[in-house]
Amino acid sequence: MRQQIDLLQQLRDLDDQIQTFKGQVRARETDVRRTVMEESLIREALEREKAKLDAAKFRHRDANQNIDACQMQLKHFEKQLSDVKTNTEYQALLREIASLKTKVGQWEEQALEAMEIEEVTERHIEKLGKEMQVKAKLSQAEKTQLDQEVQEIGVQVEQLRMARTGVVEKLTPQIRSKYERLSKSKGETVIVAVVDGACGGCHYSLPPRTGAAVRRADQLVFCEGCGRILVTVQTTEVP
Ligand SMILES: [Zn+2]
Repeated sequence: MRQQIDLLQQLRDLDDQIQTFKGQVRARETDVRRTVMEESLIREALEREKAKLDAAKFRHRDANQNIDACQMQLKHFEKQLSDVKTNTEYQALLREIASLKTKVGQWEEQALEAMEIEEVTERHIEKLGKEMQVKAKLSQAEKTQLDQEVQEIGVQVEQLRMARTGVVEKLTPQIRSKYERLSKSKGETVIVAVVDGACGGCHYSLPPRTGAAVRRADQLVFCEGCGRILVTVQTTEVP
């Protein structure tokens, strides 16, 4: 029985290593997802700023065109001033000129406002563009690293799985079938260590006699909470 339990502990170590490797891959995947998310947030901000810049440029151009049109009209009216015959016509022209000058002032205000928005937005776009480049580089590096690790870890996990199969084959048919039944329902963590008097799988607080039985290692001990096989933390060098 001692030898069988040793084998189970080896199995548990192999499972732990497999889980650790899988955890490493998951952590990398999380990094990649986070960077991609940050990258897309920057891209969205960049798109918004570009749309803002386009709108400001449009308003700026529109204002300039209106200013030009008003100026032409003004010149026309000012020339007419010397040609009018009556005082009424003269006064009417003066009113037109005054009104046009007010309009020019308003368009100039709009042009100035648009220009200020352009300046600020252009600075934002430049800054966001740089951030975007940095993120894109980081994201590429993280993806490359993920691919590499997935490949390397894949090879190591495959080796661990083969070692695991070797260990499983050395178990007695009875223990093996128990193990495989549990494997189907619990996945890869079938054999768990006792941690501070509790099951390392479901954290069920084990009665002292269960803990003692695990330490004696003369029979298979199952968690009363989840049914997993319990072992001590030490591996093969059990005295
Ligand atoms: Zn348990």
